[in-house]
Amino acid sequence: MLEDLRNRIDAVDKALLDLLDQRLALVREVGEVKREHGLPIYAPDREASMLASRREEAQKRGLSPDLIEDILRRCMRESYQQEVGAGSKCLRPDLGRVVVVGGRGRLGKRFAEYFTASGYQVSVLDKDDWHQATELLADAGLVILSVPINVTEAVIEALPALPAHCTLMDLTSIKEQPLGWMLAKHPGPVLGLHPMFGPDVSSFAKEVVLYCQGRGDNDWLIAQMGLWGAKLVAVDAAEHDASMGFIQALRHFNSFAYGLHLKASGADLNKLLTMSSPIYRLELAMVGRLFAQDPSLYADIILSNSQHLGVIKGFREQLDQVIALLEANDKAGFIERFEEVASYFGPLASDFMHESQLLLAKSKDSRSG
Ligand code: NAD
Repeated sequence: MLEDLRNRIDAVDKALLDLLDQRLALVREVGEVKREHGLPIYAPDREASMLASRREEAQKRGLSPDLIEDILRRCMRESYQQEVGAGSKCLRPDLGRVVVVGGRGRLGKRFAEYFTASGYQVSVLDKDDWHQATELLADAGLVILSVPINVTEAVIEALPALPAHCTLMDLTSIKEQPLGWMLAKHPGPVLGLHPMFGPDVSSFAKEVVLYCQGRGDNDWLIAQMGLWGAKLVAVDAAEHDASMGFIQALRHFNSFAYGLHLKASGADLNKLLTMSSPIYRLELAMVGRLFAQDPSLYADIILSNSQHLGVIKGFREQLDQVIALLEANDKAGFIERFEEVASYFGPLASDFMHESQLLLAKSKDSRSG
């Protein structure tokens, strides 16, 4: 009886594999048509309406809409990953060479990979290649700077004169200063870019890329990255840097200080993990993942802007105030402050609750078995 049921499950699973295979093949065909017509691989409206209609169909059949959405989202992610090497339509076949300065580094390598897959002629100019700089840059149509933050100014300074039509673009995690240095160096088109992701992402699809317009017509470049599925968001350089105080500097500082304190306290991480349910594990993971990365990048991000220290010091003041409440055993004061913050977050608080529950369910799945 059990054997028979298991055999039938095996048969259904095989049919599922065939269907998934068919679905992925169809999506690959869609990718080819999109490439041919220069359409972005990520179509948010189509994705949202498709998911809504599948959820509705699932509901009608008595299936969990969340289950169906999860499966379809996973399939879509797989398709985006497969698209990475396939490239996209080349919007400027006449551009000339794309030179990635620092292109042997982590992020530069990913941009070189994307431009190459989209049919551009890509060259790398890394720290030992400066003897070839004049030759490599002579016919450049796009120069991408992807060097450590602390050498950015010197590298811009060291560039020979670029062709007038060439776009100079950087990927630096700070924007105001590099944009100023690039504008002073190069009279042609200039664009500041900040990819809000690390080099380890499986694809650029759905990743946010902030851009600060410097000078000239860079619409084609923004459109090209849009074809890769990235979400491009225009932002003023000063506003960018101020916002990064909260998005990056404070978050990274917080993780850093938390890790520092765990170490100083001699906490046994493995023991803590044994006692942690998925939410606590995830929270510890968000801290721990920082220490798997480059300390110099994070030091540079935090130190890159003097405003960041102000944000961090403001945070310390809040800590002192809450500690004072605790020392006074002031539960009512604690609750009052808590409620003030809850109303500041408003409906986002419950949205985040829901979003993190979904993440937790996924993290449980990925660690079981
Ligand atoms: P990385 O250290 O991996 O790469 C930097 C590359 O620059 C290396 O190949 C290095 O050899 C090269 N380099 C150093 N000095 C050079 C010089 N004088 N001339 C030419 N090349 C030189 O760094 P990364 O993480 O790829 O970061 C590069 C840029 O991208 C930084 O500006 C950083 O702020 C930005 N960024 C990084 C991330 C990330 O998560 N890594 C995310 C967003 C933006």
